[in-house]
This record gives sequence, C-alpha cells and structure tokens, in this order.
Amino acid sequence: MPHGYWGKVLFVDLSTGRVEVEHPPEAVYRSYLGGYGLGVHVLYERVPAGADPLGPENVLGFLPGLLTGSGAPFSGRFMVVARSPLTGAWGDANCGGNFGPALRGAGYDGLFVTGASERPTYLYVDDEHVELRDAADLWGLDTVETEQALRERLGSDVRVACIGPAGEQRSLLAGIVNDGGRIAARCGLGAVMGAKRLKAVVARGKARPPLADPQGFKQATADYRRLFRRRPSPWSRRVPTLFRRLLPLLRRLGIRPSGGPVQMVIDSFRIYGTAAGTAALVELGDAPVRNWTGIGPRDFPLDRSARLSDDGVVQHNLRAYGCHSCPVACGAIVRLPDGGTGHKPEYETLAAFGPLVLNDDLAVVMRCNEICNRAGLDTISVGVAVAFALECAERGWLPPDLAGELDLQWGDGQAIVELTRRIAARRPGLGAWLADGVLRAAARLGPEAREVAMHAGGQELPMHRGVYEPGVALGYAVDPAPGRHSATLSGMADLAPFAPYLALHGLRPPGRYDYEAKGRAFGVIIPLLRAYDSLGLCHFALQMGEPPFLDWLNAATGWGVDEAEFLVIGRRIQHLRHAFNRREGLPDRFPLPARERGDPPQEEGPTAGVTLDVESMVEAYFKTLSTESLTRDA
Ligand code: SF4
Repeated sequence: MPHGYWGKVLFVDLSTGRVEVEHPPEAVYRSYLGGYGLGVHVLYERVPAGADPLGPENVLGFLPGLLTGSGAPFSGRFMVVARSPLTGAWGDANCGGNFGPALRGAGYDGLFVTGASERPTYLYVDDEHVELRDAADLWGLDTVETEQALRERLGSDVRVACIGPAGEQRSLLAGIVNDGGRIAARCGLGAVMGAKRLKAVVARGKARPPLADPQGFKQATADYRRLFRRRPSPWSRRVPTLFRRLLPLLRRLGIRPSGGPVQMVIDSFRIYGTAAGTAALVELGDAPVRNWTGIGPRDFPLDRSARLSDDGVVQHNLRAYGCHSCPVACGAIVRLPDGGTGHKPEYETLAAFGPLVLNDDLAVVMRCNEICNRAGLDTISVGVAVAFALECAERGWLPPDLAGELDLQWGDGQAIVELTRRIAARRPGLGAWLADGVLRAAARLGPEAREVAMHAGGQELPMHRGVYEPGVALGYAVDPAPGRHSATLSGMADLAPFAPYLALHGLRPPGRYDYEAKGRAFGVIIPLLRAYDSLGLCHFALQMGEPPFLDWLNAATGWGVDEAEFLVIGRRIQHLRHAFNRREGLPDRFPLPARERGDPPQEEGPTAGVTLDVESMVEAYFKTLSTESLTRDA
C-alpha cells in the first residue's frame, strides 16, 4: 500500500464510455509528484503530436497535487492540463476551492478524459462509482446554476468543476469553475471541455491516503499553523492607508516594496486578499494602464486606484471565503451591485477591468467579474481583450458596425460591461471576435492591430509589467504555457523559501535589473515552482513564512526527498513541458509585445527609461535549466 498517494489514476473515454483505472508505479510519483508533473508525464505519452486541441485526441486531465486534501495548510489546489487551444502549446491552469480535495477524497490521484461525447454529459466520481450521466438539461446553464443544480440533485457534499456557456461555445478564453467563482482560468481549457461536451465533473469524497509518518506530519503541520493563530491586529487595517501616503515617496526613490513582516503579510491576506495592492501596483508601475500605454501616477492617479484597492474593495464583503485547508481565507463572498452575491474580485481582475481600461468604478469591475465567473471566462484575458478593443476603436481600426451601437470609450463603464457581456455570449460581431482572444482578433483587423494586441504566444498578458519586475516578463516568454504571471510568482525572486534552492547553486536573489543573474535565478525558481505546484499548495503560502512542504511530503510518503532532489523533480517537469512544445514545432521562447519590453521606453513615470534585456534573461534561464544535471532522473 503506497503512502501519501493512492496509486490510482482514472481514465475515461467519452467516445466509448470506457472507464479504466491505472496504477502507476512509485517511481512515477517520486519523479513527477501529482498535478502538473503527473499531468505532463501522462499527456506527453498520450496526446499525439499535432493533435487538434479541440479534437477528441486531446486529453484533458484534472489533477490534485500530491498533498491536495492531505490536511496540510494551503493544500486545496487542483490543476487542469491539455494541449491549449488558445496557444497551441502545452496548456495548464491551477485552481483553488474544494473540488481538488473531493476528487482526491474519492480515491484518485488524477482523472484523464479522452475522446468526445456525442451528447452533453457529466462525469460523476466517488469511491465506488464512476459514471457518465446525461447533462442535456444542464447545457446552457451558467456555472453557478450548474453547480446548484448538481448539488440539489446529488447532495450538498458533492463538489463540481464545470464549464459555463463560454466553454460550451468553445471560447478560447474559457476556463473551468468550481465553488461558483474559483476558476482554472488560463490556456482556454474550458473550450477543450466544451469540445468534449463534458459539462461537469462531480466528485464526492473525503478519504485521505494513509501517511508514512502521521505523527511527523501532524507535528510539521501544527508548528506551521501556529503562525496563523493570532487574530489580525487592529493596526493592520490602517496599513494600506498609511502605505498609500508613502507611495509617491517610494516611487520617487525607486523603491520596490516586497513582503514585510510575516504577520503583517498574513493579516493583509486575511483582511484584503490580493485586493490589498491595487493602488500600490498602479502607482509604482507594475500594473499596466490604458492597454500598456499609460503611466500610473499620471493616467490613473491614487485617488482613482484607491477605489479599486483594499478598503475600497472589502467594504462589500459579506463573509470570508477560503479554499480547502486554508488558514488565511483570502477570498470573500460579496454583495453584488445589482443584488445577489458572488466572489470578491481579486487583483488581476481589479487591474484588468480597472487601470487597464481606465475605469475606477468598482461596481463595473464587480459586474464584469460576475459575468466572467458565470460564463466561465478568464478575467485576465477578457480584460485585455476589452482594452484592445477600446484602443482599436479610438484609432478607428474597427470596421463599421462591428461593435454595433456600442460607443467604445476608455473608462466608459456601461460600454465595458456590455462588451464583456457580448464576449461571454459570443455575440456575432466584436463579441465573437474577442471571445477567441486578441491574437486572432488582431489577425482579422490587420497589421497595425497586431502591435497593440498584448499577448505571449496567443495568451493575453497578466497585470504585472516586466519593466517593473523583469522576472515576470521572463516567465511570460519562456514558460511552455506562455503569458502566465504564476510561472514566476509575479517575478518575485527574493522570498525566504527560495533561498536554500538558490544557495544550492551559489546564487543569491538577483538585483532588479541584473538581467543575467535574474535569468539564472529563475532557471532555479521556475522549476522549483512547478514541483511546488505539483504538491497542490497555494503560491501565496510562499509569501507567508516558510511552509515546510518538504517535511509534509516526506512525512506523507516516507521518501526522504531533500532540496536537491526536489529541484531535480521540478527540472524534470519543466523539461517535459518544454519537450511537449518542441514536439509541436513550437519555439522555446515566445516573443513579447514591444510595449511589454519597454521598447521604446516610457518617457516619464516610475519605469521611465527601462527597456528590458529579455535576451540575456532567456539565455541565462535556459543555460541554468539545461546545464544542471538531472542527477536522479527516473
Ligand atoms: S490564500 Fe487564498 S487562494 Fe490561497 S489557499 Fe487560501 S483562500 Fe485559497
């Protein structure tokens, strides 16, 4: 009997209805863990080169991490993998909530769906049953309605990962949603699910694989949980206001604040979640403004960005929301401006429907967030698509009648919400064009439009700028799933948990614009993060002290994995993700838009004069990744 994992992976062929359970050997788990790692191991073998991402031969995997549902703090995540229809490259997306632990709790380390169903179907999984069931009556429902209908039918203890109308209509910006608004958003994997006519996966289960060292696991968990016992200090609520006062000074001095005392960071996540930082990130030049042409302090000054930040956002909270096993609960359920409840918008959404489109009305952001959550759409990609349309309209590049009566102006809340609705509904005209992303829309509009389409490899860029933090741009360019800020944890290289891994290679956190050192550091950190992801833990934990993830892994499995081996596992996963793309004839690096590189540089503002040396970072990244030997390769 294995420890720490079940040793069982489920394969369901939607074309034939065949269900099979496979039992990968221990070496596979020790080499790839779970999540992304197990996903790329299986897909590299089973997705034929040249497979149509929306065809039956593409394989869609749902993968809890190796520690998902183990009881370790922050262990609520699952990952979805497939060849991406948005980029044509390796595709994966990471999601919190409660679905991952339920799938693991049903007794499986992963679920892979092949083929395509003729009719709308959902898959039900518990520890005794694996059944394909008719979903004709669910087809057309939004994600919240789908989850409600399935829980009413099957019981409130089931967990549902589903697509909304966007995935059904194969929008390439579609993701897969659980808990009514936590979404595996990136890479267009909701379209893969829609093409398979798989409306939902429903999992029921609370079992946990046996642990090799239950006492050791309990101890490591208890020690770490102590950090989270203290209630937020009353002072913590005043930090954003005080900090905002300091921002102009920090900007003038070129200081990039990073982290802070651990308890302050924990308090901030608890009170505000990622909404804590919108004003700071706009002011300091991290958040893109006006489709990457604006300058934060000039075009979206503090009095505007504050409306989309910290207290401005959480005033609508009704209750805290946390993923499974989270000691922080950084999310919230909020009262929506038009009635009803939904999820609090997080930083990426606040920025994408805020400074990026010059909107400072939180109600507009909340409406767009809810439209996207219910349709099952990626708010980053949709926000970038809206910004692209606003710029094209301003420059007179949209064909007459493409937008109908819609008067597209920067900052016009009504127009922004309406265009988001049209994208969600794939309404013929501009909505349908944008529903497949800015690369394809620009190809229809002509060469000038390509210059203002902000993507890497076809995936819309997130709300962090490389000219502010070059590491994030490196991740956009080199990760096999391009255009992701989570490839590098938004470019942060100076977090305490990374230190031992950098030290193994004689490296230290690099200077902000030391491009070569940055590339080398991320040659270590990117693979490390892929191994960490494959455990099913939340990235935000890495900003809150030093989660003892190796202790948890070893107490769960009994393996005795050390830092060096963990890094080898990460490299193996990253090499295989790169290999997947090479087999498709794709480049190892994806070009970045000139604006993202700072070419030409901005003439004023916090990142004035910065043009990225992407080449040096890319070269150093690949050199570090490829020259380090896989000493314990499987
Ligand atoms: S910190 Fe936030 S995103 Fe991370 S596990 Fe907790 S609730 Fe989920």
